[in-house]
Amino acid sequence: MQRVEVVVVGAGHAGLSTSYFLSRAGIEHLVLERGLVGEKWRGCWDSFYLNTANGAFNLPGAAYAGDEPDAFLSRDETVRCLEEYAVSFQAPVRTRTRVVAVTHSADRYVVETDQGSVEARAVVVASGYFARPRIPSSAADLAPDIVQVHSSAYRNPDGLPPGAVLVVGGAQSGPQIAEDLLEAGRDVYLATSRTGRTPRRYRGKDGFWWMLQAGIYDHPVDQLPDPNFRWAPGRLLSGTRGGHTINLHEFARIGIRLLGHYESGDGYRLAFAPNLHWTLAESDALTARLTRQLDEYIEQAGLSVPPRNPDNTDDYDGDDGFRLPEVTELDMRSAGISSIVWGTGYHVDYSFVRVPVFDRTGQPIHRRGVTAFPGLYFMGIHFQHTGRSDLFCGVGDDAAFIAAAIEHQLATASDKS
Ligand SMILES: Cc1cc2nc3c(=O)[nH]c(=O)nc-3n(C[C@H](O)[C@H](O)[C@H](O)COP(=O)(O)OP(=O)(O)OC[C@H]3O[C@@H](n4cnc5c(N)ncnc54)[C@H](O)[C@@H]3O)c2cc1C
Repeated sequence: MQRVEVVVVGAGHAGLSTSYFLSRAGIEHLVLERGLVGEKWRGCWDSFYLNTANGAFNLPGAAYAGDEPDAFLSRDETVRCLEEYAVSFQAPVRTRTRVVAVTHSADRYVVETDQGSVEARAVVVASGYFARPRIPSSAADLAPDIVQVHSSAYRNPDGLPPGAVLVVGGAQSGPQIAEDLLEAGRDVYLATSRTGRTPRRYRGKDGFWWMLQAGIYDHPVDQLPDPNFRWAPGRLLSGTRGGHTINLHEFARIGIRLLGHYESGDGYRLAFAPNLHWTLAESDALTARLTRQLDEYIEQAGLSVPPRNPDNTDDYDGDDGFRLPEVTELDMRSAGISSIVWGTGYHVDYSFVRVPVFDRTGQPIHRRGVTAFPGLYFMGIHFQHTGRSDLFCGVGDDAAFIAAAIEHQLATASDKS
């Protein structure tokens, strides 16, 4: 059996950032990846762009230094950047190697893969937090000729049969896919959820950039001003067409048929909560709260920037959504709906880790990625430490922390032997 000091599972940006710091510390390790480097992004839809700008593409040792900090990477550019990143420090990645089990005995871990086993003194699980598609159970009750795909499997409008499309899910993926479909001339229905938007442009800068400046993502998870922030769905915004705000009222204006929350389905019949207007009001209120926070930050920091007014944001200021009816039932045949895209999020899935470090919901029990099992670490968890933890702009801080913990662990173990 092959032996190494450390195995990292996954060559996304969490695994690669960890590998960067392990390499810098001279710690022997192997990154095992079931697909190719950046596999998750390879699976995104064709028109996908990151919604964080280049200036926030900030991996350790590779902070963005180009002259387009406000532009956005496409799917393929994101993959290429991750590949170049891996090459830049010769990350020891073994691709097409799926980890099927991680077990613990004495002071060792055995990492079983579909290409043989590896023994290690430490394992970093960086296999992605958004792992298994979450789809409502009633999807199984829908008529078999309705094509259903999860957002992680959606590629482009041509991949769906002719006809109208229902997109379910109003956070990050659903509305972006709804736009993709509308631009291709499809009739689109969108079942919404309670999500605030981040104005793409606000007072002269990118809205997400302002959020980073204002420290909104910097609170450690146990000191959040509002604990719900941890579980809040990703805010509405897009990196396509050079970046723009996603505003549901504007969706109503351009002809996307907005619905309340998806409740259930049976055959061709779909039921929605009568909460579209509430959802829109909440989205507006969350957005107003965010811009107030940004204004307070700007004022406190004494920054000289353009004033708050409609000229200095690209956020649509209409309220068209409130004029739409609350639709609680839809017959897919009458509406001409032939397919459904579930933009309903993900479950975690660490089932290959056969070490009892999970709570009843399958979430790893850890403090900043460090578990109670010496040598077992996690990376890339949403809010692992702060709101930046799983993002391109913040994963490096956690990677440095975990690599330092491993260095300490290995040094302590060799002192004892
Ligand atoms: C639709 C979407 C859009 C997002 N957009 C942005 C954005 O614009 N900006 C931003 O900063 N963040 C964004 N995020 C959040 C975050 O950056 C991603 O979720 C990111 O992919 C997390 O990186 P990761 O390395 O933890 O996981 P992943 O990128 O998922 O990497 C995990 C890797 O582990 C591999 N793997 C999994 N299981 C195994 C196994 N058993 N054996 C071997 N390998 C395995 C996978 O193939 C994968 O390559 C987005 C998330 C989603 C879902």
